[in-house]
Amino acid sequence: MAELERLELNVRGMTCDSCAVHVEHALKSVKGVHEAQVPAWDLGQATVVAEAGIDPAWLSEAVRHSGYLAKVRARRPWGQAGGADGRGDGRIDLMVIGGGSAGFAAAIKGAELGFQVVLVEASQIGGTCVNVGCVPSKTLIRSLEQYHLAGERRFRGIETNQGSIDWPRVIAHKDELVREMRKAKYSDVLAAYPQITHLEGRARLTGGNGVEIDGEAFTPGKILIATGASPWAPPIAGLGEVGYLDSEAALDLQDLPHSLLVLGANAVGLELAQIYARAGTKVTVIELLPRIAPFEDEAISSALTEYLEEEGLQIVTGFATSRVEQADARYILSGSRDGVDLKFEAAQLLVATGRRPNTAGLGLEESGVRLGERGEILVDEHLRTDNPDVYAIGDVLGRDMFVYVAAYDGMLAAENALTGAGRVYDADYIARVTFTDPQIASAGLTEVQARERGYEVKVSTLEMKHVPRALAARDTRGLIKLVADASTDRLLGAHILAPEAGEIIQTAVLAIRFGITVSELRSTMFPYLTNAEGLKLAVLGFEKDVTMLSCCAG
Ligand SMILES: Cc1cc2nc3c(=O)[nH]c(=O)nc-3n(C[C@H](O)[C@H](O)[C@H](O)COP(=O)(O)OP(=O)(O)OC[C@H]3O[C@@H](n4cnc5c(N)ncnc54)[C@H](O)[C@@H]3O)c2cc1C
Repeated sequence: MAELERLELNVRGMTCDSCAVHVEHALKSVKGVHEAQVPAWDLGQATVVAEAGIDPAWLSEAVRHSGYLAKVRARRPWGQAGGADGRGDGRIDLMVIGGGSAGFAAAIKGAELGFQVVLVEASQIGGTCVNVGCVPSKTLIRSLEQYHLAGERRFRGIETNQGSIDWPRVIAHKDELVREMRKAKYSDVLAAYPQITHLEGRARLTGGNGVEIDGEAFTPGKILIATGASPWAPPIAGLGEVGYLDSEAALDLQDLPHSLLVLGANAVGLELAQIYARAGTKVTVIELLPRIAPFEDEAISSALTEYLEEEGLQIVTGFATSRVEQADARYILSGSRDGVDLKFEAAQLLVATGRRPNTAGLGLEESGVRLGERGEILVDEHLRTDNPDVYAIGDVLGRDMFVYVAAYDGMLAAENALTGAGRVYDADYIARVTFTDPQIASAGLTEVQARERGYEVKVSTLEMKHVPRALAARDTRGLIKLVADASTDRLLGAHILAPEAGEIIQTAVLAIRFGITVSELRSTMFPYLTNAEGLKLAVLGFEKDVTMLSCCAG
């Protein structure tokens, strides 16, 4: 294979997204160019991977023909050949496979440490979070919250305008935000790091340090796998044949369905169920386990069930689905609950039963990378696989599937792989948030988990109706439950169901992570008329009857 070079160009005259596309096409049309990218028109930059020795004038000329001006400002060797020891020759120190949040964090860390990085992405840059996960779901949730609140205000007689939802517009606003954030947080960021080369293509490992990208061979020094996870559906008879919505399709439905069955009542299923219910769809949530939000504290599951039912959602738990059929454009789910056969019907079906790692067809086992039962990559505490030159990060590990964990993994693994820093993965304390309204936010151990681990447990539970902020806001839904170790007084877990609970939980995370005791929290002032003050009240609840307190959690 020919030796390659990476060239960076300044481009003038671009005024819109299509200008960037024109310049990219012009560069790709030049003989000897393997790859060309214009990340964003307003950055005025382009990168090209081309056969070594290419005349820069050919590139400028091609761009001039399409109506713009371009000049090469930097060029350097860019290669794939392995060194004598079979390792990278120094020209690609780190190859990151997957351009989602984990991959980006790793690539940036590698560049900041002074290494040459290649980031390979098979599809849309940015991965799940910005394109089909956190960003689209949270902006839809907020839109529907506003719509729902307006309805409540009308109900209470303090707002008079009537209005029905313009669903296509809600979806268009969501798409606009996704585009903006993909550009601002991914494309533009990439363009700011000349040490990172973005390659479009599907990568697979070929053994040792070998990687093949759409047929082209590379031998980087270290490899980081960040290929994420995809929606997974259980093996229910008929499901494969009828077709159904997964979370990605459900975030992009152009027509609002009249009715919707949601299979799976964990975070993604519950968030989407409430979005559609608030938009006016008749929603039935079906869960195999005995309660919704099945991995949260039981008190939280049961309170949230009540609130969702009050909003009109039908919640069915402990239901084992045995068959899915379609008749007269309706989905029919058959199964049983407590030995009784039941059927549920709706115009649409959403399957939100979890995500599984993207590891098929990556050549992992042939390269000495071991997989677990669900196809997840197995790593040690440094995020290294059984192949010493291959690390894995983010959702492909099949655990703690949150974007902030993916980013943390990326930074940690890049540093370990490139510098031998030996940093250890530690995520015991992390918070998880389910963005229903009210939100669930929790961190650390539940009461049941703490008892199972042999702690001498003490518990304080506070209903939000005792929190002044909740009273002032006239929204007293929810509760705060704290779990502490009675022998050391250390906080072990915090479990909150409240509007914007995600904004409160981090105080508890710090306490859990840094061993702050219940008495230290008790002697700390919390601002009055904030929901966070609820944490202080819950702390006081370990010893006092908080209903008998005066102002300011004294
Ligand atoms: C509906 C939904 C809502 C969510 N909401 C939240 C939230 O509110 N907060 C939160 O913290 N987390 C949330 N998450 C989870 C979060 O999005 C993920 O944990 C995170 O995006 C995972 O990042 P990642 O980099 O590991 O994987 P991804 O972002 O999935 O990136 C993997 C990338 O690898 C690419 N790829 C795969 N195979 C190859 C290959 N062979 N070659 C090259 N490229 C390849 C893929 O195209 C993809 O772009 C949500 C997820 C969903 C589905």
